[in-house]
Amino acid sequence: MFSETKLDIAVIGGGASGLFVAGFLSEAGHHVVVFDKNEKVGKKLYITGKGRCNLTNLCPSDDFLKNVVRGEKFLRSAIYNFSSQDAVDFFEGLGLRTKVERGQRVFPQSDKSSDVIRVLQKVHCKGVDFRLDEEVLDVKSTSDSFCVRTAVAEHKFDRVIVATGGKSYRTTGSDGKGYEIARAFGHDVVPLVPALCPIRLNDVFVKKLQGVSLKNVTLSALADGKKLEFFGEMLFTEDGISGPIVLSLSSVVNRAKSVQLWLDFKPALDEKQLDARLLRDFDSAKNKDVLAVFRGLLPKSVAEVFCSVCGLDGRKVNGITKEEREKIAKLLKHFPLTFGGLYDLNAGIVTSGGVSLDEVNPKTFESKLQKGLYFVGEVLDVDAFTGGFNLQIAWATAFMCAKHLE
Ligand SMILES: Cc1cc2nc3c(=O)[nH]c(=O)nc-3n(C[C@H](O)[C@H](O)[C@H](O)COP(=O)(O)OP(=O)(O)OC[C@H]3O[C@@H](n4cnc5c(N)ncnc54)[C@H](O)[C@@H]3O)c2cc1C
Repeated sequence: MFSETKLDIAVIGGGASGLFVAGFLSEAGHHVVVFDKNEKVGKKLYITGKGRCNLTNLCPSDDFLKNVVRGEKFLRSAIYNFSSQDAVDFFEGLGLRTKVERGQRVFPQSDKSSDVIRVLQKVHCKGVDFRLDEEVLDVKSTSDSFCVRTAVAEHKFDRVIVATGGKSYRTTGSDGKGYEIARAFGHDVVPLVPALCPIRLNDVFVKKLQGVSLKNVTLSALADGKKLEFFGEMLFTEDGISGPIVLSLSSVVNRAKSVQLWLDFKPALDEKQLDARLLRDFDSAKNKDVLAVFRGLLPKSVAEVFCSVCGLDGRKVNGITKEEREKIAKLLKHFPLTFGGLYDLNAGIVTSGGVSLDEVNPKTFESKLQKGLYFVGEVLDVDAFTGGFNLQIAWATAFMCAKHLE
């Protein structure tokens, strides 16, 4: 349990994991200093969940771990020891009322991420010494302590916790400095790639679809020979696709060398059922343009693009052969999209890759290479799907670190 010896502890980063760990350690009687390069803490937390902060997910821990993309085994102990229910109880205990929404997602009842930051900083971290606008430049170990050099001064500490986050949405402060600190202690950093990130398409028709959203579709991929499928909602951007199923897919294709993508516009119907539906629709619109039929099946601009890709522009329904109709049904279920890669690292909601898990103790989050040095949160090579899982990883790793730090 929490260490009895009173220590001077530096927490680098006042984001989700940094605030979490700092409060527990200060409560345990340690002198805790949180450094953040920003003028205020929790800049990324502020924009989470579109400003509402989806702070955890109340699914059972086994299901939780299925939503972890990288680090599932490593995180097992943390997630079982500090579950999402523990996170909810913790926040309720700080006076933050919470509510559960679709898919077991937990939000503050106020729908304000600022309330999450407020209780973390003002209540949980009331005994913490905050050094804001103070970027940590490097950390060195001496025989019995650490020297933390910031843009302002050099400070001596007994323990250092790196809670610097990933390397995406850099304007929130997470610019990857934590990886440099880790490397300086000999840590391996698994190459960084974006995760939960929009995907670029090399199809010229994309521009015509910008802003269009599709519900209840299946987006599939063949990534290095592995078939992947996500059902739900997506939308077209200026030069690609985004939205829930695209973000999820991006997290599992972000390291693949070859990716083929296709869309099933009508996953509820198999090809035969779809052909029968087309036959019915065609029968009742014999003298009309094919486009008119597709407008009943797809959003207007998607119908136009679909007709043009299928070479059906200007064609009348009564001119379509059976073979053509069957081909159309096939294409509605297997509409190819040309994968143009993910957007850059900065656009990922989280960073995949980071401090190698082999070199960090999964129970204490202490470095196996340097005693007294700890890594928590997104700086580690861990990431998960959307739904509150990434913040729960930040809370759970921070809690375990505080609990076992000695
Ligand atoms: C748009 C968006 C929406 C999201 N929504 C959700 C959501 O609803 N639910 C969910 O579970 N997850 C969400 N996430 C992911 C989640 O926000 C992160 O996984 C989580 O914040 C990681 O916590 P962290 O403590 O590791 O890093 P961060 O919260 O990024 O904190 C890192 C902190 O370290 C500071 N720092 C970095 N380097 C230095 C340095 N050298 N010196 C001093 N300070 C430094 C930074 O300023 C920053 O404050 C979202 C992410 C984004 C970008």
